Amino acid sequence: MASRESNDDIKPQQFDYFLVLDFEATCSRDEKPDPQEIIEFPVLKVNSRTLETESIFHQYVQPRVHPELTGFCVELTGIIQDMVDGQPHIEDVLKSFHAWMIENGLIDGSTSSVFVTCGDWDLKTMLPSQCQFFNLPMQSYFRQWINIKKPFAEAMGVYPKGMMPMLKMLGVKHQGRHHSGIDDCKNIANILCGLLRRGHVFKVTGTNQ
Ligand code: AMP
Ligand code: MG
Ligand code: MG
Repeated sequence: MASRESNDDIKPQQFDYFLVLDFEATCSRDEKPDPQEIIEFPVLKVNSRTLETESIFHQYVQPRVHPELTGFCVELTGIIQDMVDGQPHIEDVLKSFHAWMIENGLIDGSTSSVFVTCGDWDLKTMLPSQCQFFNLPMQSYFRQWINIKKPFAEAMGVYPKGMMPMLKMLGVKHQGRHHSGIDDCKNIANILCGLLRRGHVFKVTGTNQ
């Protein structure tokens, strides 16, 4: 058997690329803001054969309805007011993201890809509710994803509570700041790579129709 660092046990996958996504959003200690709005939109394009991150989309987003971040939100995410002030609103970020998808050959049919998230919240709840609230079209590529907790449970035999327990069980060191979207993406990608190196074959786990 190959070592944990080796790519020898990686099996052919249904997808050429995994798009690891982790939104951060407005929040407060007690009640959830209504509407909750995305403030950080990071995506890593991970090659399913080489496990290399080939491209990164990363944009902070200015919230419209509650433009002032709460102290709780700043403390949780490490995103300070200056990082969202003057940034584009969600409709423009969705346009830039679509342009990134095009530039990266992810929607012309030349490659196949799927989003990977930790939990179902990002693509089942957060993005659809924000698109609905602001009456924005949601691209069809957002309608299916892999919740990494499910393949983790299949491969490791335990349904994990979150990202931190998954890293611990895989013996992978946590990188950066927990609840920073871009750092969370890097850690989720490390979990994904850990499972790929253990020979796991990934399937879609969630859809929104
Ligand atoms: P995460 O990807 O786990 O960093 O969380 C995504 C978003 O969920 C955060 O940006 C917050 O809006 C919300 N969230 C996560 N953890 C908490 C928490 N303990 N209390 C309130 N909101 C949270
Ligand atoms: Mg998350
Ligand atoms: Mg996060």
